[in-house]
Amino acid sequence: ATPTAVMVGTGVGASRGILVKGGQALESSHKVNCIVFDKTGTLTVGKPRVVDTRLWTDVPLHDFYELIAAAEVNSEHPIAKAIVDYAEKLRLNQNKLVWPKVEDFVSVPGQGVKALVENREVVIGNSSIMLDNKITIPVCAENALSEIEDMAQSGILVSIDREVVGVVAVSDPLKPGACEVISFLKSMNIKVIMVTGDNHGTAKMTAKEAGIENVIAEAKPAEKANHVKDLQALGYTVAMVGDGVNDSPALAVADVGMAIGAGTDIAIEAADVVLMRSNLEDVITAIDLSRKTFSRIH
Ligand code: ADP
Ligand code: MG
Repeated sequence: ATPTAVMVGTGVGASRGILVKGGQALESSHKVNCIVFDKTGTLTVGKPRVVDTRLWTDVPLHDFYELIAAAEVNSEHPIAKAIVDYAEKLRLNQNKLVWPKVEDFVSVPGQGVKALVENREVVIGNSSIMLDNKITIPVCAENALSEIEDMAQSGILVSIDREVVGVVAVSDPLKPGACEVISFLKSMNIKVIMVTGDNHGTAKMTAKEAGIENVIAEAKPAEKANHVKDLQALGYTVAMVGDGVNDSPALAVADVGMAIGAGTDIAIEAADVVLMRSNLEDVITAIDLSRKTFSRIH
């Protein structure tokens, strides 16, 4: 492409809320034949809500939520926000205005959080954070998880002082239009893959709703990036679409990293293209724009 064509293409993109960082990103976009989508906050609305709680403890519900929300208040993850919102609601009638004291907060991207809350060790997240901390998942919790996953919801395990005492069910619906975007991309001969840190059950159900056959679940941030590299090794030109800290390694290695504008700053920094309107249709617009810009030139 001539520098002028690239400038025009970049300008047209910007006017539609598609920020392309440099001519290379615009050029690579027209060769994309495989798109990897993150699930949470990318294909889904990203505003999960707490819809159910299973407890195996005497701790009252509002105390349980206060304890876990105190830890989650320090996390940017949408699931953390859902838990904090829910705790706030429960707290309204308790008249408590200060969160319990939190020490040693650790956020593990793609897995969950860990902290000392009023001297109790609280671990919140998926099975892998429990395994890494050598916390046993009891059969009651396993069963609760599979029931929750069958409804395309995510089950979040909660352990207090190394014992799993509860599972929080959160629901995060697909973005409106997600199915249409996926089927349109397939009609453009683009291979579509979903990759997520979420568990297999929830991932499979969500992918099915979206019309995606290729699903990679329980992927940690580095594994998301490795999947992108594997696809590149197979000869694909890969675009990665994501919103989270957990997506940033994959966004960086992809031929074209596309960040959802509403996503985290780290994802936006790692990406080559930013979809300012946080609209999935703009993935199609970006590729289309690049195809038009570069087909003029050859
Ligand atoms: P996705 O790839 O779908 O955006 P993530 O990689 O961010 O998901 O997270 C994967 C899983 O890790 C979540 O589904 C959840 O089970 C767990 N998780 C991550 N962060 C948190 C958190 N702050 N609180 C609870 N669970 C979390
Ligand atoms: Mg995400």
